[in-house]
Amino acid sequence: MLDQQRLRADIPAYADPSRPAPVFLDSAGSSLPPRIVLDTAIAHLRREAEIGGYRAANERLDDLAAVKTAVATLINAEPSSIALSDSASRAWSDFFYSVPLAPGDRILLSQADYASNAIAALQRARATGAVVEAVPAAADGRLDLDAFAGMLDERVKLVSLVHAPTNGGLINPVAEVTALAHRVGALVLLDACQSTGQLPIDVAALSVDALSATGRKWLRGPRGTGFLYVRPESAATMEPGRLDLRSATWVEPDKYLLAPDASRFEFWEHDVAARLGFGAAVRYLLDLGPDLVYAAIADRSAHLRAALPGIPGVTVRDLGEKCSGIVSFTVDGIAPVEVRDRLLARDVTVTVSHRSSTLLDMTARHLDSVLRASPHCFVTFDELDRFADELAVIAASR
Ligand SMILES: *Cc1c(COP(=O)(O)O)cnc(C)c1O
Repeated sequence: MLDQQRLRADIPAYADPSRPAPVFLDSAGSSLPPRIVLDTAIAHLRREAEIGGYRAANERLDDLAAVKTAVATLINAEPSSIALSDSASRAWSDFFYSVPLAPGDRILLSQADYASNAIAALQRARATGAVVEAVPAAADGRLDLDAFAGMLDERVKLVSLVHAPTNGGLINPVAEVTALAHRVGALVLLDACQSTGQLPIDVAALSVDALSATGRKWLRGPRGTGFLYVRPESAATMEPGRLDLRSATWVEPDKYLLAPDASRFEFWEHDVAARLGFGAAVRYLLDLGPDLVYAAIADRSAHLRAALPGIPGVTVRDLGEKCSGIVSFTVDGIAPVEVRDRLLARDVTVTVSHRSSTLLDMTARHLDSVLRASPHCFVTFDELDRFADELAVIAASR
């Protein structure tokens, strides 16, 4: 069991006993970090101001190396397979733009893919003559494995699969997709932005070729952090689309050598304070016990999924069989942004996911936007009930 009191005591946002704790349900957007994350990042910023950024970084070389070790431990990879990045989209595109494409090659997207990934795919298709196709969803919303198998041929070079989308509780079948894709030699790039930190991730078992995630969501790190996992075979053979003197070494006037591992996907400059804070966040999760955290998130989202349908006018919009920690819903007759704002006025934070973020899925379901509540392990059940009560008042005001 997680020590709920310790979890709460570790969060600066709950430190003021003179006011009621805010109800925070946006870990799918940008979560509340534990104090160690804040302290680590701020201490490093101060140190940089005292002695300069180079000396300050040199004092923390071991801790910086440990960031990759922590991430690797979390997803069952080797540290040499991790490239640290400044966002999930940066990490995703670092890999995606490095996959060679020729006219007629095919890029497959999952129906619930994130807008940034689709935009990048469309741009590269235009530049290379490749084509982008969406894999249909099955009746329950998950990627349709039969349809997928039927679409595969040797022209499919890359499959973009979202593990858990931004706009609801769907969880896609990953290992099944990679097994099928690998039969035709296609690479699978997994968008694990909404799953890392809330669902178990084992890259060896999932057998993905690459995976991207962000720091600020379920991992509770600082903004401006993220990472890319690249399978060792790919990390040793792929040439990233852009290089600098960290990704490669200039060894002769007309020759450079690529870094031997996933660090070929990194640039030299980065926000050291944020990166150290990110490492502290991942270590904090590892210390708590990821499985306990995942179970606590699942309990909380299940609690909401049980409570919300009982409120007249509220419809839960989640797809899939087993759901993630993201609970999506709408309120009849009231625009999601208005519901969000009225909840915010009561110090309840939820967010709105708009059609353009997951265009294919939202269009197929005739949805313009949905509300999104994403409780992390530190949210109490009393707070979930307070949210449901506030929502009932809003829904009754229609
Ligand atoms: C948030 C999100 C991203 C993008 O993450 P950034 O760190 O903002 O680049 C990608 N995919 C999904 C599913 C997301 O929810």
